[in-house]
Amino acid sequence: MSVYVSERFDDLGRADSAPHRLGILGGTFDPIHMGHLSLAEQARVALGLDGVIFMPAGTPVFKKDREVTSAEDRLAMVRMAVEDNPCFDASSFEIDRGGDTYTYDTLRALRDYFPDNVQLYFITGADAACTLHLWHRASEMADLATFVGVSRPGYSIDSVAGEAVRAACGINVTFLSLPGIDVSSSMLREKVAAGQSVRYLVPDVVRSYLQLKGLYRKG
Ligand code: ATP
Ligand code: MG
Repeated sequence: MSVYVSERFDDLGRADSAPHRLGILGGTFDPIHMGHLSLAEQARVALGLDGVIFMPAGTPVFKKDREVTSAEDRLAMVRMAVEDNPCFDASSFEIDRGGDTYTYDTLRALRDYFPDNVQLYFITGADAACTLHLWHRASEMADLATFVGVSRPGYSIDSVAGEAVRAACGINVTFLSLPGIDVSSSMLREKVAAGQSVRYLVPDVVRSYLQLKGLYRKG
């Protein structure tokens, strides 16, 4: 069978009409790190999700001010990081589509693809959750998925920001406070460039890949 979105979850909800919940975690993943993996796992359990699909952005629209690592490398790292968790999968859906990545387009396509008994949960960290109203066609995204904003160390979840998002675009973010890991891809890129260790901040397979490809090294 050819894969549309995810090898592990494309058939979700098709065998019967029982309700299912599918998480989607979008991001640049430059590189994927323990913060992303922990976020997805904690959210999966808290929300009772059948699984979480990690979906690296092709050309992230908010990151045009810096050079983003090739989609091929970012996807490869996501694939190897999620491999050993049967509740996770990596998807090349946004990368394959090419052009700028808009979450609206992705959620529209996923909503059309999965049967109605599959509820979509779009998972974001607190930083991203508070900017949702600025995203392309934000008000049309509201009906396509449940939007979840998970606590992230260094960023506050506040009801004022949540209310501002709702007032601006109608998205009612479900905020979750979960144990977090204070790591970011930016911090990791800086650490590698400075020759510092990223052990225990990224999975070992990702660390080996960074070394093999010489990613983020200076010069
Ligand atoms: P960068 O520093 O390059 O922006 P990042 O670490 O923020 O990288 P992204 O790929 O931008 O990673 O993030 C994808 C999603 O994961 C976003 O919704 C973001 O809020 C969330 N996220 C990233 N790191 C964490 C973390 N440590 N805890 C909780 N959520 C996180
Ligand atoms: Mg970020």
